[in-house]
Amino acid sequence: TTTRTLPTTDDLRARARAALKRIGVSVPEGTDFAARTPITGDELFGLAAAGPADTEAAIAATREAFLTWRTTPAPRRGELVRRLGELLRDHKSDLADLITIEAGKIRSEALGEVQEMIDICDFAVGLSRQLYGRTIASERPGHRLAETWHPLGVVGVISAFNFPAAVWSWNTAVALACGDTVIWKPSELTPLISLACDRLLDQAAEDVGVPRDVHRLLLGDRAIGEQLVDDARIALVSATGSTRMGREVGPRVAARFGRSLLELGGNNAAVVAPSADLDLAVQGIVFAAAGTAGQRCTTLRRLIVHRDIADTLIARLTAAYAKLPIGDPFDESTLVGPLITTKALDGMQDALTRAQAQGGKILAGGGRRLADAAPRAAYVEPVIVRVDEQTEVVREETFAPVLYVLTYDSLAEAIALHNDVPQGLSSSIFTRDQQEAELFLSAEGSDCGIANVNIGTSGAEIGGAFGGEKETGGGRESGSDAWRAYMRPATNTINYSGRLALAQNVSFL
Ligand code: NAD
Repeated sequence: TTTRTLPTTDDLRARARAALKRIGVSVPEGTDFAARTPITGDELFGLAAAGPADTEAAIAATREAFLTWRTTPAPRRGELVRRLGELLRDHKSDLADLITIEAGKIRSEALGEVQEMIDICDFAVGLSRQLYGRTIASERPGHRLAETWHPLGVVGVISAFNFPAAVWSWNTAVALACGDTVIWKPSELTPLISLACDRLLDQAAEDVGVPRDVHRLLLGDRAIGEQLVDDARIALVSATGSTRMGREVGPRVAARFGRSLLELGGNNAAVVAPSADLDLAVQGIVFAAAGTAGQRCTTLRRLIVHRDIADTLIARLTAAYAKLPIGDPFDESTLVGPLITTKALDGMQDALTRAQAQGGKILAGGGRRLADAAPRAAYVEPVIVRVDEQTEVVREETFAPVLYVLTYDSLAEAIALHNDVPQGLSSSIFTRDQQEAELFLSAEGSDCGIANVNIGTSGAEIGGAFGGEKETGGGRESGSDAWRAYMRPATNTINYSGRLALAQNVSFL
């Protein structure tokens, strides 16, 4: 099914302007690049981008602000984050509008993204009264050995289009609580939601009496990102995006001995075992594979199904896919909105052509929708492709709703297939067999940063650490002890014995 009509670009522009106005954003209009909407594929406003001098000024200002922010008591720093969380609550609907307009997310997912920002603010406020170090047993009498966590410096946040606001908040709420200052280079595809987030943080800083320069936003393309990557004053580069981007950023930051936190592409799989509850599995699979039009880093891209249940499961999935409402993401009945650009559509069609050449068979979907109503937009039917083996295209991340289905006979074979891709972000198993579930979660099971049981690969809560292994980059963000990446530990040996005792019984003098 396709939703009947799309809003016009004029409607969307007016809706964006109204949301921005209520949030208090003054849009930096210009001719360097444009804000656009995937709903119609059209431009909304021309914008001014930051140049190298603006980037230099932002680095100097955030570095200067760091010198006082690092000694501001952490619970005081938490007050800034608490105020930000309140403002995000007040503007939840406007922020969700901007996410839908720029990223094409359906209403419920856009609201969910704002909720995720609110949740991480709550988490970071609590964190601001924790940031625990350890006391360690010293081998010497009259000595205390301790570990203290200190702020790191300026954090450069480079983010992707598909979580245009949540990824910023995971980094920024935690970094600010940790005593760091932040420069944000968002995706060039989502400038308006970035302006809104920056404005609310600015307001929060004013409300609680904190210098504005604890945060700076730089709109523009990757050249700004590259300037942050190469500048030794940026203590941590936290970059979210494609593996291609991470491959460039990682070595450049390492070359200057800077730190990087990389959150890159995924190629996530679910194993469906014979004992699985198929009602639950179908729901979990369809959300993970077709939700967000396949544009989450944790989107389910590979289904590894036991041969005995493959035909039944495939029949149920193809029936569910045939009914997915595709179209206007503002329409409450829509479940699948647009792809971000027609370039993403080309990438999907290219992957399908290659998959078929490599022996794959399309079982459901794959067609384009609304091409007449919106020729510059990219609405597609989520697609299921049956493959006999994990060919080259199956091992790549195609950032679109393409689900490859493979079959297995033994769980060992399923786990081997599961892990035999370059990426290592998210994974899941659907089973009612506890031995199978525990094996999948064990050291010889899934090799991913996220491993789930009886739930799909996407839709993580903020309380856990988020990130993945191998070409996903190894970074961890958000909850648990991910905050440690934003601080530097110092080991302290304190001698209160009145005499000098050397470690390892060394004698000297
Ligand atoms: P992208 O790699 O095209 O761009 C991401 C950001 O990096 C943008 O801000 C871009 O301007 C910047 N950039 C690109 N090249 C750069 C360079 N050489 N130096 C500095 N900055 C550079 O990614 P995208 O298309 O916006 O997002 C989709 C990708 O992001 C997918 O691969 C997806 O899996 C991944 N992603 C990963 C996570 C995660 O947490 N692991 C989360 C969201 C998205």
